[in-house]
Amino acid sequence: MLYNAHIMEKDHQVDTLNELDNALDQLGKQTLPIQTRSALNNARKRLKQLKRSLEQDVGAGRLAALYQVSQSLGVSLNLDEVLTQVMDAVIQLTGAERGFLTLVDSESSDLNIVAARNIQQENLQRKDMEISRTVIQSVIESGKGVLATDAQDDPRFSKQESVIFYALRSIMCAPLRARGRIIGVIYVDNRAQSGIFTKDDLNLLNTFATQAAVAIENAQLYTRADQALASRVSELETLSRIDQELNARLDLDHVLEITRQWAINGIEAAQGWVALCDDEDAAPNLVSGPQGGDVHELEDWVIAKIQEHPVPQLIPTKEGNPAYFLAPLSHAGKIIGAIIVTHPQTITESDQQFLARLAGRAAAAVENARLYEAIEFANEAKSQFVSIVTHELRIPLTSIKGYTDLIRQRVVGEITDQQAEFLDVIGNNVGRMADLISDLSDISRIERGKINLRFDFITVQNHILETLSSLRHKLDEKSQNLVTDLPEDALQAYADPSRVVQVVTNLVSNAWKYTPEGGDITIRAFAKNGHICVEVIDTGIGISEEEQTKLFTQFFRSESPIVREQTGWGLGLNVTQRLIEIMGGEIGFSSQVDEGSTFWFTLPTTSNQE
Ligand code: ADP
Repeated sequence: MLYNAHIMEKDHQVDTLNELDNALDQLGKQTLPIQTRSALNNARKRLKQLKRSLEQDVGAGRLAALYQVSQSLGVSLNLDEVLTQVMDAVIQLTGAERGFLTLVDSESSDLNIVAARNIQQENLQRKDMEISRTVIQSVIESGKGVLATDAQDDPRFSKQESVIFYALRSIMCAPLRARGRIIGVIYVDNRAQSGIFTKDDLNLLNTFATQAAVAIENAQLYTRADQALASRVSELETLSRIDQELNARLDLDHVLEITRQWAINGIEAAQGWVALCDDEDAAPNLVSGPQGGDVHELEDWVIAKIQEHPVPQLIPTKEGNPAYFLAPLSHAGKIIGAIIVTHPQTITESDQQFLARLAGRAAAAVENARLYEAIEFANEAKSQFVSIVTHELRIPLTSIKGYTDLIRQRVVGEITDQQAEFLDVIGNNVGRMADLISDLSDISRIERGKINLRFDFITVQNHILETLSSLRHKLDEKSQNLVTDLPEDALQAYADPSRVVQVVTNLVSNAWKYTPEGGDITIRAFAKNGHICVEVIDTGIGISEEEQTKLFTQFFRSESPIVREQTGWGLGLNVTQRLIEIMGGEIGFSSQVDEGSTFWFTLPTTSNQE
């Protein structure tokens, strides 16, 4: 029976014609005059034609109704929406009193009701639904639709208690088949007195089920793809957070703890450890694990697996204990350790994949942190070496300088002019070496954090003038024009006065060295944005753009022959920059080849500036 209004109407008309035909049939059994009988026969013939055409109409109506409900299918790819549409359409097409749609769970093969009208999932388990369950089972097994018009008369179901004890029902059930696989069933039923389904109704339901199954499967595939994409995006987000945390600090202990925490939190593991091999062939050691408290210590045979079988692996453990999962940390083709976790339940495939990805990232971070540690160690060793060497050299150098000066000053007797000349050469070279030792010793002390600055409030102009007076004779020798542009009001800075003198000496010495005879050297000082700014401006050889990028690096000296003519080690600017930064200032420059350079630095005015 179809509840499409138009078809229902036609169905009624067919019923009425049937009743009329029966009545005429009864009348025909009476003795009738010839003419009346012939009229009666004509009327019955006419009635039959009318019935046939009405039945054709009903068939066409069914198709129209099917077309109408099928049209809306396939528009949406949202599984819930599609299921609701299908359920609505089934009720509309069959006019069933109640119905539901079940889908087969692809993993467990269970049947789950996913849409229903006037019936609950739990009701399906009730005794009166036993016959329904049998019908559904037979549809799943045979793959064919079932029509149990009167279950009591149907030999397949009549033995069922439920048919006898509970209200008789007219049942229809059709398989949902997509790509040759049964993905579920559509079930509808009616109380026998409220409507009996016909074969035509079942055909219609079967046809509709074919279309519905495709729409449902499409939505399922789409939802699955959508979910897979969403979970991949969320995994990538997680991995990017892990990368950020792992690379935030190049500290090995930090990297190991972050790795362990992510392993535990990422898969809700019970416990986690990280083991590392000290070098390629060494046995792995636990380097990070749960500390203190009631912890399950990791047994040696589990750790040994890292080298026995270095692949991601699930290690089923002795009875009663949870399983371990081991993800090796490998870097540049070598196994450097592993992440190991235990889980109260089984570790799923996707958990294993997560741990393997975490291990890939952690291995790189561990290796970086180890390299950094090694570099730090080498750096420390170098600084210590430089510190010892400079200390040891300083003493004999002072003595060479002292005695050379004594001889040069003829304190210990007369010397020839040539001897005096040689002593000058010795004196100059000792001076160069002393400069080098002083710069190297500063660098090593700064690097080891052992430089002691004596901060004080100072008047910057005083220290600039003091420096210039000691350099004046050098500038005069090259006939260089010294200009000072210093304000009258005291410029107060918070700095180490002797280091300020050292910085100004370095910059003015460079201006002197790299400015030809007769050039100008200007020193300006002024207050700006809460800092004191000092500029040393020269009209010297300038620095090429390419060489500007190397300025301030240790031992950098320009290739220019004018520079190479001058004495120097290429350490002055590096020391100057570090001193300024330690004092909380900044340093910079601008330069044009053949026009000159300006070097500037700033100093803080208060003690609480960074
Ligand atoms: P040094 O002067 O002992 O070589 P520095 O570290 O003071 O070492 O300077 C490094 C290099 O920077 C110099 O060798 C030179 O090439 C360049 N330089 C520094 N100051 C100037 C300047 N005022 N004009 C031109 N070049 C300069």
